[in-house]
Amino acid sequence: MTARKNVPIIKPTEGSMFDAVLARLDIASKIYGLSEDVTMILRSPQKAVKVSLPIMMDDGKMHMFEGYRTIHSTILGPSKGGIRYAMDVNDEEVKALSAWMTFKCAIANLPYGGAKGGITCDPRTMSEGELERLTRGYTVALADVFGVDHDIPAPDMGTSAREMAWILDAYNKVHRSDFPGVVTGKPVGLGGSLGRETATGRGIMVATFAALKKMNLDPKKVTAAVQGFGNVGLNSARFLHEHGIKVCAIGDHTVTLWNPKGIDIAAAIKYTKENKGVLKGFTGGVEIKNSELLTADVDVLVPAALQNVITKEIAVDIKAKLIVEGANGPTTPEADEILQKKGIIVVPDVLANSGGVTVSYFEWIQNKYGNYWTEEEVNIKHDASMNAAFETVWNNGQQYKTTMRIGAYITALKKLEMGINAKGHY
Ligand code: NAD
Repeated sequence: MTARKNVPIIKPTEGSMFDAVLARLDIASKIYGLSEDVTMILRSPQKAVKVSLPIMMDDGKMHMFEGYRTIHSTILGPSKGGIRYAMDVNDEEVKALSAWMTFKCAIANLPYGGAKGGITCDPRTMSEGELERLTRGYTVALADVFGVDHDIPAPDMGTSAREMAWILDAYNKVHRSDFPGVVTGKPVGLGGSLGRETATGRGIMVATFAALKKMNLDPKKVTAAVQGFGNVGLNSARFLHEHGIKVCAIGDHTVTLWNPKGIDIAAAIKYTKENKGVLKGFTGGVEIKNSELLTADVDVLVPAALQNVITKEIAVDIKAKLIVEGANGPTTPEADEILQKKGIIVVPDVLANSGGVTVSYFEWIQNKYGNYWTEEEVNIKHDASMNAAFETVWNNGQQYKTTMRIGAYITALKKLEMGINAKGHY
């Protein structure tokens, strides 16, 4: 395998989220010099399951939901990936997210492949009882796909420890077992790991500090904007704020706020806890448009809500010097090119938000050993793992004279290529 150096920027084509995965995969494969056989294997998910879920709603009417689980790869180990509840969940999106999990686990040096699941639903409009029946129905339908050494789900957008506890219970009832390791992100009392809930946000903070160091920027003089105030956004804002970075803009689906003096993140968190999890009504800043957060005059931008928000139109106006991707797929391939030309450093999703799956792995190990770690132990191991992954990705970006995103893909490709070739073919 020979690496080709000084490859010019390759213009990707516009398309679906999975096309965005393939665009980056193709660029990285060409720069690295990956064989066509290995590229072909990585372009096709191993397995995709779609299930129909008839659920009795509280009003006595039956509603049919669609659920998905895609296993992109088990080359490096059992597949791992979250379950998303949102209205725009579809097979293309789940396929893209599953492929990103393969790359993410490889980059984070975890012995896992990649998968993703989801249900097309609006969890914000459903009662707890409806969500529980839906989650149990989904788990029973996929009881032969999930498995502690096969495919291990976790939370993602719209799901949390509560849903993971239902998955655990439904799975174990089907299999007449009681083992907790089939799902991660569980409540701590049911075998969940300390530090898991906040891990993705913590990872964003570690990646931000690692990038600022490379850029010779003093964190104490740096400002940030964070889009999304759910699991990833809230915890990213909290850790950045607690470590001395001034967070000047935050926002969720209800409101976006700006305060050049810095938003009181602790007060914002308290407010959302008391107000159904949303920021609407919080008075810690003036209201701005959602898109204005992305182009705000700050040093660090953390998109931690939705995919495809940094489009080529937005990219042109971005003022941040550093983007740390909390969400999966927040930047389109067309925007990548503009950001690269503007010299903006992007810590890509497959590295930046890998803190969650890293601590999910720690949870799985703890379940297997039946031996539980303190939060401090979890955090120390997490930070070390995140910093090591950052360094490897950074070095690959430098070595192949490319962006951190393509450097990250190359990091994954090296491991996946080794796995595919060592296991052999039939
Ligand atoms: P979440 O459901 O906990 O929170 C989502 C947040 O996004 C909410 O604050 C919501 O109000 C906000 N939002 C929704 N629509 C918005 C809009 N139009 N404008 C602004 N904000 C909007 O989800 P999460 O777990 O924080 O996931 C967010 C992203 O991070 C997703 O892309 C997910 O795949 C990714 N991610 C999550 C984890 C994890 O451990 N939860 C790990 C890695 C990556």
